[in-house]
Amino acid sequence: MTFVFGAALLAGEISARWGANLWPADWAIWVQLPLLLFIADGLDYGRHRLQHTVSWLWPMHVLHHDVDRMNVLKSGRGHFLDMLFRSLAVYAPLALMGVPASLMLVYAAAISVFGPVAHANVSLPVPSFMHRVFMTPQFHRIHHARPLALSCSNYCNIFPIWDLMFGTFTSPEEHSFFEYGVEDSTQPDDFLGQVLAPAESWRGAGREAASASVIRRPAPSETLRCP
Ligand SMILES: [Zn+2]
Ligand SMILES: [Zn+2]
Repeated sequence: MTFVFGAALLAGEISARWGANLWPADWAIWVQLPLLLFIADGLDYGRHRLQHTVSWLWPMHVLHHDVDRMNVLKSGRGHFLDMLFRSLAVYAPLALMGVPASLMLVYAAAISVFGPVAHANVSLPVPSFMHRVFMTPQFHRIHHARPLALSCSNYCNIFPIWDLMFGTFTSPEEHSFFEYGVEDSTQPDDFLGQVLAPAESWRGAGREAASASVIRRPAPSETLRCP
């Protein structure tokens, strides 16, 4: 959480100094706020989907998925490179647009609330249409399901409309119980091992690619995890 707010403050500073004048800062705040949250969540949707589809981005994100049960603390379980990549993907475009720091902080506050709620081991008693309006625990736990067919969906972190628009929405009404985690996880149990795991994956992928080119077949780690 400290990282998210720190990145928001830094992005706000960069925006004030070097940001272009593209943000409609003179619009009413009740228009600016939802617009900012919508755009930021769209950027985050793109970032998240890339991490599931581009093989060299997956090693940064896999730690977040390497859980066998859900609770509010799992929201913050992630590699620091994952957090860095997420901040860059969302805050850098906003800063270049000239979004003010106050709005960046509102986005940081929003994901600080939505994140833990989405990972909570509860089912919110909300009408079914709400799973298509805001990210709910029922919606996000599908993304943490062990079967790839399920985890390759529900990427958004606030507004499921991004998943609905790009065809990656899976309805919580169709899937309510499953195992969590990653099928082929090789994540170490110790802290240092987890810190070094992405570098180990990238080194291993390099070796596989080199041997695959000799026998003319794609390396397993080069194949996409999700469509
Ligand atoms: Zn994910
Ligand atoms: Zn999650």
